[in-house]
Amino acid sequence: MNGTMGSSGINGRHQPSNSPILVLEPVNDTFALKSLELPEHAKVKIGRQTGVATAPHPSNGYFDSKVLSRVHAEVWSEGGKVYIRDLKSSNGTFLNGRRLCPENTESEPFELNQNDSLEFGIDIMDENGALLHEKVSCKIYISRMSYPTPGSSPQDSHAKIKPPSPVASGVNSIKSNSVSIQGSQSENIDLIITRLQSELTRSQETYADLGFLKHSLGELEKVMIVKGGEIGNKNNNNLANTNGQATSLTDPPINYMELQNQREKEHAAEISRLLKNFEDAKVQWEIQRTRELRSLQEENETLRRNQEKANEALNQAASKMDFTTTRINAMIQEHKQELETVRREHEAAIANLESKHKDDINRLVIEADAEQEGLADKHKRELAEAVALARSSKSEDSLTLEAELESLKEETQILREARDAQIRRAEALVEENRELLQQLDDIKTELRSVQQMMKSNTGDLTSLTPTLHAATGESEGSLRPRGGSKSAVSGTSAGIEHGLSEGDSRPTFSWSQFVFPIARKNDARLAQKVLLMSALRFPNLPPSEPQGSDLLKQERAKTTFRVQELSTFLYGEEVLERQERLMSLIEKIPAFDKSDRYFLGRTERFAHALRKDHELVKLGKKHGFTNDEYTHANALIDEPGPLGLHRGMFLPTLASQGTEEQIEKFLKPAERYEIIGCYAQTELGHGSNVQGIETTATYIPETDEFEIHTPYLTATKWWIGGLGKAANHAVVMARLITAGKDHGPHPFCVPIRSMEDHTLLPGVMAGDIGPKFGYNTTDNGCMWFDHYRVPRISLLAKFSSIKPGSGEYIKPPNAKLSYGTMVLIRASLVGAARQGLAKAVTIATRYSVVRRQFVDHDAPKKLGSHIVETSVIDYSMQQYRLFPLIAASYAFFLTSKEMMRLYYLNMKNMATGDFSLLADVHASSSGLKSLTTTMAAAGIEECRRACGGHGFSSFSGLPLMLQDYAPNVTWEGDNYILTQQTGRHLFKTYRELVAKRNSGRWNSSHVNNRTLAYLNTYLDNPTLKCPATTPSHFHNPELQLAAFGHRAAFLIAQAVHAIDVEKRTWNSMLVDIYNVSVAHCQFILVQNFILGIRGELPQPDGHIDIARTLSQGSKEVLADLSDLFAMHTIHKEPGEFLACGYLDAKHVSLLGKAVMELMETRIRPNAVGLVDAFAFPDYLLNSAIGAYDGRVYERYVEMATREPLNRTEVVEGYEEYIKPFTNPNNVKGHLMKSRL
Ligand SMILES: Cc1cc2nc3c(=O)[nH]c(=O)nc-3n(C[C@H](O)[C@H](O)[C@H](O)COP(=O)(O)OP(=O)(O)OC[C@H]3O[C@@H](n4cnc5c(N)ncnc54)[C@H](O)[C@@H]3O)c2cc1C
Repeated sequence: MNGTMGSSGINGRHQPSNSPILVLEPVNDTFALKSLELPEHAKVKIGRQTGVATAPHPSNGYFDSKVLSRVHAEVWSEGGKVYIRDLKSSNGTFLNGRRLCPENTESEPFELNQNDSLEFGIDIMDENGALLHEKVSCKIYISRMSYPTPGSSPQDSHAKIKPPSPVASGVNSIKSNSVSIQGSQSENIDLIITRLQSELTRSQETYADLGFLKHSLGELEKVMIVKGGEIGNKNNNNLANTNGQATSLTDPPINYMELQNQREKEHAAEISRLLKNFEDAKVQWEIQRTRELRSLQEENETLRRNQEKANEALNQAASKMDFTTTRINAMIQEHKQELETVRREHEAAIANLESKHKDDINRLVIEADAEQEGLADKHKRELAEAVALARSSKSEDSLTLEAELESLKEETQILREARDAQIRRAEALVEENRELLQQLDDIKTELRSVQQMMKSNTGDLTSLTPTLHAATGESEGSLRPRGGSKSAVSGTSAGIEHGLSEGDSRPTFSWSQFVFPIARKNDARLAQKVLLMSALRFPNLPPSEPQGSDLLKQERAKTTFRVQELSTFLYGEEVLERQERLMSLIEKIPAFDKSDRYFLGRTERFAHALRKDHELVKLGKKHGFTNDEYTHANALIDEPGPLGLHRGMFLPTLASQGTEEQIEKFLKPAERYEIIGCYAQTELGHGSNVQGIETTATYIPETDEFEIHTPYLTATKWWIGGLGKAANHAVVMARLITAGKDHGPHPFCVPIRSMEDHTLLPGVMAGDIGPKFGYNTTDNGCMWFDHYRVPRISLLAKFSSIKPGSGEYIKPPNAKLSYGTMVLIRASLVGAARQGLAKAVTIATRYSVVRRQFVDHDAPKKLGSHIVETSVIDYSMQQYRLFPLIAASYAFFLTSKEMMRLYYLNMKNMATGDFSLLADVHASSSGLKSLTTTMAAAGIEECRRACGGHGFSSFSGLPLMLQDYAPNVTWEGDNYILTQQTGRHLFKTYRELVAKRNSGRWNSSHVNNRTLAYLNTYLDNPTLKCPATTPSHFHNPELQLAAFGHRAAFLIAQAVHAIDVEKRTWNSMLVDIYNVSVAHCQFILVQNFILGIRGELPQPDGHIDIARTLSQGSKEVLADLSDLFAMHTIHKEPGEFLACGYLDAKHVSLLGKAVMELMETRIRPNAVGLVDAFAFPDYLLNSAIGAYDGRVYERYVEMATREPLNRTEVVEGYEEYIKPFTNPNNVKGHLMKSRL
């Protein structure tokens, strides 16, 4: 059929037809509307135009398009339904967007329905994405009405329009996705339009046909006219009829004109009939169209009204929603206020409770104190009465007195128990407080969940109500746990846990035993720190038995001496009383609180130390502290601060090296802290070698000034304590250059920072040198000078000076005059060594009692009938590590006292021009500084290790103690270099003695100091042998002194011989020199110990030697310690004692036995008492494991809860650094990524 109408000819419009008509309405502009009549089973081809025969026409299936195949598809009707099939097209046929079959295959038949979307081919683009060839896209209409025939009414044809048939079963169909207008009305409109368009097309075709016919007739007429003329002229000619057939010449002549006219009339009639039909159809169409338009208008109007109603309804809904939103906002506001009120109420309740508890506890403490005081008074009175009675009445025997004392003791015990009960009550109150805190936490959690609920309830409205979101966010913030804010995260104050350590008579109450301790009485500021928001909550479990506190109590019960008496022997009553007084002041000041000490970073610690120094100065001014009080308070707070060097070095240097004028100008304001100074000697390139420093101070006579300058990088001042940030002045050691001559290092007091705003002065550059092994609370600094001018008065000129103008240098009268300050500082460092070592060994000893490991099966310990693990202090190795350190601490106590006495004596002598003591004091202080600080640093580390793993925890107090103590071995003379000064002096003394002895100008009455004494004894008998044959012989102090003296003298003699006779270089002798110094200083320590406990050391003027008044128990334990110090020192390093010939191998073996026996039998029972006698408050030790009460584990755990990392349960950084490994599917970034 080739796309032409199957059932009609060119003018088939006249044939009435019931075949379906498939109308393809173009969706794009690729073709003109097509109406394809589909008689039953006649297939109409769809394809591309390939020539004239396949030129596209409204009634055929050809398209002028490159995207179609030649034979693309076919359509046909069957049983009144219309079908399509793709005929192996390349670009496919798409029905409602779905391709009918794959490329180059023939598809199944698919039924076409009204409003289906049909596409032939696909859009073809060029490489830039521009459209090259557009697909053929159309909409389907199917009409089944007959063509209107003349006479048939539109109603008739309309009646034949059927609704689209449902999909035939068994035949493919693809439903249109387009929204079809439901109802027959709209379908009919579409069909009518289709029909009318089809009619119009056919009319146009008819019109074109008529034009063609008219033209043909015109042509024919012309031909006939021409032929007629010719025939008229030639008779009997045959003519062709109009059909081209030959006409017989015998037929009558035809009147062509008439015929033509008649034909024309017929044609005109036909045309006018057709035109009339056309006009009728047009009128009908217009009428129909008008009707349809009207109905459409009505429909439109209805729709518009409906739309208006819907808008109105929507507006009403929106305003209702606004109303609801406002109400919900109001509700949120209300809830927030309610939450706030509840929170406030709870906080107030807690505060009330706290203050009530505080009051209760304070009352209890006051009551306990009062009771205790009352009892003490009573005891005193009764004792006095008893003594008076005993004195007055010889008849009453001491038994009565003792009985009375016994009863007093019982009373004391009762009182103690009452006090313990009070403590337990206080604990219960605190427990209650803790529960309330827990409740508060729970309420907070509940409030948070209520808020969360509200948030989710209103979640849907958040997009409509921007304020809603903000409001929710706000209230979320207000409910955030307080743990997140610094102010709320505070722990207990270890600083207020002042468990006093004066033996049984002193109160043992310790505030820090509570998990949530309450601040001490009258200290409202510290009370604010009670609330601890830690995610880490340990259960309130007791340690397993026996309890540490019981173990320490048992130890104290074993003590064979009076602890208080020993404390008094060590410090004197005045110092102990001072300590009590200072503690009561210190514990009230938050700046001295140590509870955060182990958790802070360097910057925070520095800030804390600065504040602490400030408060200490304030406290000192307020209470008019003496120098000793200030030093003592500083030692209790125990935190090196930025103002430490001001007191430690700046003031003493000004005092000892300044002229009267300089004391007025610098020292006085410095004492008032108007000037804050530091001591700047060490340089980047030089420390020990002070003579090598490179900073210059050149005198400028024209202006009478010094120009201080840093010529090299190595001349940069370095390590200077307090210089980094705090100081505004410095004593600068610089090479004094005047009149072109370098006179070596001299001290200059110079301003370095503005007194107005603390900025660096022009010509000075300074800053902090950064973090260190320890001592990080001090701002050790560095400094450069750039031709910095200072007035002449800056040179501290007590000993050396220059003449103004000429710049002439004036030498000091004695080069050693400035040694005084050095001796003072070194002697005080011996005191610091005893303090450092004693603190560490106190912690380690108490902990070793509480700490139990393994059962010693040879001597199992029992608790009731149960065998318990052995306290580690009972292991002999632990004793060998710790007890000699206790003994060394006592040795340092006595020697530091003696050193201070000698310093003052020497200063007094020097003031009168007597320098005879200076060299010996200087040499001894150097050697002793070296030895004691070396021993203390090593001893602190040994104590730390003796505490095992817990010694490694900062909470033990030992790591920080070690770090802050460590520089003592370096500053104020490096410990190895210092020994050379001692050695040099000893060699000189020895040479002089030998010379005197050799010259016969000597006898033993000339011995006026101990060095000479032991040297002289040695020279008298260099082959002296130790007489000991049993271990007990080594308890003889004379034997001990002989051993130490002989060995020191031997080493000195050997070294002098090596230097003088063997001509060994100094450098090659440094190890021997070090050993000489150590031997000499050990002799001093042993001797001072022995003399000290015998009461044979000289006392400062007006002082009574307490040693002589000691009770037997104290004397014995001190003698034990003295023995242990001497015997252990030999036993630990016996080499030199053997080398000098005083001891032999057997002696060493005897000595070992003596040491072990002494420790086990004599020191062990007294170990805790001996460290208690150091009288260190818990506040000073700041140790979880070394406190007086032995509650090691409880404190330790409590400190751990304060670890800032424990404020949150899930670590910060979990999302970024842990979760990606452990829970990768839930990582936020992952979800976001996948969403993206
Ligand atoms: C925490 C801290 C605070 C300080 N505060 C101050 C301060 O406020 N003001 C101040 O001026 N200084 C201060 N100093 C510096 C301190 O005084 C010096 O570090 C100290 O004098 C040692 O000098 P040095 O560091 O240059 O060591 P060096 O002298 O360089 O010694 C290095 C090593 O060489 C050895 N050695 C050097 N010479 C000899 C020799 N002749 N024979 C044998 N061995 C030798 C030493 O024993 C040492 O082991 C401080 C130091 C520290 C650690």
